Amino acid sequence: MSNKLDAFFPGTVSDDTFLSQTLCRLATQGIDASTSVACIAACHDMVRQPLLQRIRETWPTTFDYTALAAVPTVGETGGEILVHAARQSPDVSAERPQIVVFVLPHVAIDADCSGCFTLARLLDELRVADEWGLELGDLELVRLRKRVWLQCDRRQRRCLTIEELAKLTLQIGCSAAWRIVDGARQEGARVELVSGLIIETRQGARVWAPQASAST
Ligand SMILES: [Zn+2]
Repeated sequence: MSNKLDAFFPGTVSDDTFLSQTLCRLATQGIDASTSVACIAACHDMVRQPLLQRIRETWPTTFDYTALAAVPTVGETGGEILVHAARQSPDVSAERPQIVVFVLPHVAIDADCSGCFTLARLLDELRVADEWGLELGDLELVRLRKRVWLQCDRRQRRCLTIEELAKLTLQIGCSAAWRIVDGARQEGARVELVSGLIIETRQGARVWAPQASAST
């Protein structure tokens, strides 16, 4: 693996290892994929990502919160809707549905790999813009840009790398997903949040998951 991968994202694992570690961790919490629902917050342009396919094959019911850079734009209402949908699955307990919320943004670290269009565009904007702007016709991007904007000063924004922006996006995506988790919990569900940054390299995809999943 490249030095860049180790320098920016130490401790990455393969797709398979990430999924098997996730399933083990969920099992220790008493959650089984066959009797739970997976809610996937990924990015619009992750159309051929094998890990997403594996998750959809592993869970009998999946719910899609795909958004720009995997930052969900639904809040507590999204959690309430998720529980409503989960209760309609024959594999899931209607009394206390078990839900696993995945937050999986992506980035490419090698120039010849296809990366995240949103992050590349956002990085260009952040480096030159002096305001975060408000364009009602592009609300997902405006919300994402504002969230990044609030976490960096002007100097930091102008020096951001795509790798740093991807890490920030993972953090922002998790924080947005907690509102879904809160909404689902209020509806009586048991919820686990699982997050990881998918990194495209010449040797294939790796997953960087520095944050342990947290339960409610
Ligand atoms: Zn993307």
